[in-house]
Amino acid sequence: MLKFAIPNKGVLCEPTLQLLKQAGVAVVRSNENSLTAASSDGEITFLFARVQDIPAYVCAGAVDVGIAGLDNVMEDGGQAQVLCRLSYGDCRLAAAVPEGSGINEVKKLDGKTVATKMPGLTRKFLEDNGIRARVLTLSGAVELAPKLGVADAIVDQVSTGLTLQANGLTILKTVMESQACFIASDVALREKADELAALKLAFEGVRDAAGLRYLMLNVLNESQLKRVVEVLPSKESPTVLNLAKKGEYAVHSVVPQSELSGLVVRLKRAGGKDILVVPIERMIT
Ligand code: AMP
Repeated sequence: MLKFAIPNKGVLCEPTLQLLKQAGVAVVRSNENSLTAASSDGEITFLFARVQDIPAYVCAGAVDVGIAGLDNVMEDGGQAQVLCRLSYGDCRLAAAVPEGSGINEVKKLDGKTVATKMPGLTRKFLEDNGIRARVLTLSGAVELAPKLGVADAIVDQVSTGLTLQANGLTILKTVMESQACFIASDVALREKADELAALKLAFEGVRDAAGLRYLMLNVLNESQLKRVVEVLPSKESPTVLNLAKKGEYAVHSVVPQSELSGLVVRLKRAGGKDILVVPIERMIT
């Protein structure tokens, strides 16, 4: 039985449930308010936890594995083992100041007050830059602090930048880049290596398939085949199969979804017929 902590709310919650579903791990929750759930095969117990607490639960051995932001892992001291990055929940932890504050370089934070939910990383950032500043720890809505006059600057997670903009703040410096990660304790890595390796492979497969599509088409002769293969941006080399009718071929390839609309037009012009585009659940290379 594997204990697996996942975020109970916030930006990482929904994409994590989606990742588990695509990786073939069904999370069966008896009711919406329950903080635990089992996988459909009963092999995994899920614990819905605050994302900030997940690295500490993992390090303490309270759970074997978890999903949390890399920033949460580093804030906790970076002791949890990062098995893989998951390519969602991207953000940067950034120092920001009110527009027109006159604080236009990091050294001007000297003697100021910096509000944050991440005091550990904030103190390290200030120390690394030789700044002596007071760190005010808040548990949320950090962007309010300068408006309320309790801080001169903030260090917070920024994704689109819209929250900063809406609150009259501008980025001074990026502290670190972050995204969701699959993490494990040292003990789980030693004692449950096979289960962890299987989950890692499944998660990486889902991650690497995101944004890719499987494309299939037919061509009726060798010259069309040559032209179609030239047009394809195949990851490796496209698969070419003989059809039952001599001289006709099926061509299969993995292509980025973003290139599909233009590509389909070029393939048709090159002689491609019966073009099919299908989703890829996982890509294991
Ligand atoms: P945005 O307006 O898109 O830049 O989002 C900023 C707000 O969302 C801030 O309140 C952040 O604390 C929060 N936020 C953005 N990205 C993340 C993330 N990856 N993890 C946790 N909180 C985030």
